[in-house]
Amino acid sequence: MTIRTRFAPSPTGYLHVGGLRTALFNYLFARKNNGVFVLRIEDTDQSRFVEGAAEKLMESLRWAGLEYDEGPDRPGDFGPYVQSQRLELYQKHVQQLIDQDDAYLCFCTSEELEAMREKQIAAGQPPRYDGTWRDRSPNEVQDMLAAGKPYVVRMKMPLEGETSFEDLVRGTVSFQNDLIDDQVIQKSDGFPTYHLANVVDDHYMQISHVIRGEEWLPSVPKHLQLYRYFGWEAPQMAHLSLLLNKDRSKLSKRQGDVAVEDYRDKGYLPEALVNFVALLGWSPGSEEEFFDLKQLEDLFTLERVNKAGAVFDLDKLNWMNGNYIRKMAEEDLVAFLTPFLAEGGADISDEATTRNIIKAVYKGVEKGRDTPRAAAIFLQNEVEITEEAALAYLKDPQAPTVLAAFLEKAREVDTLDDAAFKDIMKSIQKEHGIKGPALWKPVRVAITGAESGPELPLVIEVFGRDKVISVVEKVVARYL
Ligand code: GLU
Repeated sequence: MTIRTRFAPSPTGYLHVGGLRTALFNYLFARKNNGVFVLRIEDTDQSRFVEGAAEKLMESLRWAGLEYDEGPDRPGDFGPYVQSQRLELYQKHVQQLIDQDDAYLCFCTSEELEAMREKQIAAGQPPRYDGTWRDRSPNEVQDMLAAGKPYVVRMKMPLEGETSFEDLVRGTVSFQNDLIDDQVIQKSDGFPTYHLANVVDDHYMQISHVIRGEEWLPSVPKHLQLYRYFGWEAPQMAHLSLLLNKDRSKLSKRQGDVAVEDYRDKGYLPEALVNFVALLGWSPGSEEEFFDLKQLEDLFTLERVNKAGAVFDLDKLNWMNGNYIRKMAEEDLVAFLTPFLAEGGADISDEATTRNIIKAVYKGVEKGRDTPRAAAIFLQNEVEITEEAALAYLKDPQAPTVLAAFLEKAREVDTLDDAAFKDIMKSIQKEHGIKGPALWKPVRVAITGAESGPELPLVIEVFGRDKVISVVEKVVARYL
């Protein structure tokens, strides 16, 4: 049997990081098992239609490197892969269930449903559909149709018994049938609901494994009932735990970014985000934390997916992303960080200068958007010294001597390159007998504003002699 998985998002406007994890696990499971990964767009809810949303989703998946084998823009044998292009198929299957007496037309108006709800709540019962139209006579139904009354189609849930299934992550899960509503499978606009379309498509697209978020768990008994009515074998299922904020509440927009595009725009690398997301609920079974997609494809198993909620720890993502940035080849690094420098207002017209700035600051950058802050000293003509430790070096009794000597010697050279800088420092050491931190720290603080940071020779090279002199002069005037 060929393993076939699918990612089946509803195009709501962006790819949620939880969706990225679902897509990733489906992708990895398919790759690991020489299977096929399908992208299916579930757009039957016309009220939630968002222009261009499907394209955005596909773009985000491509950015993350999750290539699907079949999808809207990857023809396969089971298309079309967009549900709004498959309406006839759904209608045919809804009709089949009506003909089999496994589904029925329900003419309840929204006012009637609301009244039903209020009555149940008043009586202390859980609100639900009460089966008003479940067993009406064909004549009554005909009369309503003849009168042109709008209707939905509901499936019949068994009134007793239990539905159980083996979830590949959670083990046996059971539901009591009489607690489950007769689910609407076709809306009054003739469109199928998620449940019907999802089951029909998983069957015809020969999906072997459904891997999705745990919010879909309550749908399983309805889906299994539909598979039974159609006489189809249901796919295997795995429900992934929720993603949580650090305080263990459900990951939400209010506490941080949830859209993959936001992470991309802030300068997270796709490799880092994918690596991080892979570890949300899955563990490799070792202490190792860094994996590229290829390694994940080899390692992934559903057995190692945890059913406890997974905390989305932004600090960890930042740390991981910083690691990936530090490992980048110089060319890639410059190409990646330059736009962020420009976004921060830097003049990037001189390539060599831009490259030197990036080389000087990238080690202190965890994500692209940190670049302007890390490069602040290059973007200003004056340094602001706020650190206590940095100020203390300027208060050292020898600092005025060091800085005065430095300025004097710097004014004497034509160009202040690495060699000239080292010569100057050496001669100050010789002439004044000052060495080590007492010599180097005041100079570093006066040039960069901080006691540690970018390598001094790189800073000096980018600044050039005149800017070094003017920056140090200003520090001497202001802080000594
Ligand atoms: N369209 C559903 C969603 O938006 C798919 C759920 C499923 O995978 O069955 O997530």
